[in-house]
Amino acid sequence: MLAVSKTKPVEAILEACQSGQRMFGENYVQEGVSKVALFREQHSDLDIEWHFIGPIQSNKTRPVAEHFDWVHTIDRAKIAQRLSDQRPENMSPIQVLIQVNTSGETSKSGVNDEQVFELAQLISELPNLTLRGVMSIPENVSDYESQLAAFKGLAEVKAKLAQKYPSVDTLSMGMSGDMEAAIEAGSTIVRIGTAIFGARDYSNKA
Ligand SMILES: *Cc1c(COP(=O)(O)O)cnc(C)c1O
Repeated sequence: MLAVSKTKPVEAILEACQSGQRMFGENYVQEGVSKVALFREQHSDLDIEWHFIGPIQSNKTRPVAEHFDWVHTIDRAKIAQRLSDQRPENMSPIQVLIQVNTSGETSKSGVNDEQVFELAQLISELPNLTLRGVMSIPENVSDYESQLAAFKGLAEVKAKLAQKYPSVDTLSMGMSGDMEAAIEAGSTIVRIGTAIFGARDYSNKA
């Protein structure tokens, strides 16, 4: 389980750590980078694994490459290339997931089922990235069968990728509202914010 701590204070992260949680997800570059830097300086004993799960603009790749262990939201070649180029030499490769648009909605980011394979090939050739799998944020629907169908589609994409790339073992899908269906479809990382930390306050984000 990835605890999604975006907008939440450092104290909330520390509290989750006391229950044994060590994987945290952040969406916003500036907020995420400052939390990672603070924990590396003041709480390096906790050995937290940090996942970037927000949209990435190409002019923001450097701080992401310099701070995060994982990136879930790779959706184009340029971002992959820049993250690899900008990864500091003393850090291990970034563990990356390709974001797939399972519902085909034009408003959502992510590649379609065919583009996944092209992007996977490129990532597999980059020295400072390790391709671990795929992630998606499916259309927000409340009925279980529709949720399950979308997640099963993503699970198939991951299975095909894994045949070609042995490093692929990760299926990042499921959030507070649809984690049960995601788990049934084989999710290996559920990204949970609200169900752990409560509702988010965006009043200082606008
Ligand atoms: C905010 C966010 C989550 C967590 O959502 P909840 O509904 O609060 O569990 C998961 N994944 C991504 C990509 C997010 O942006």
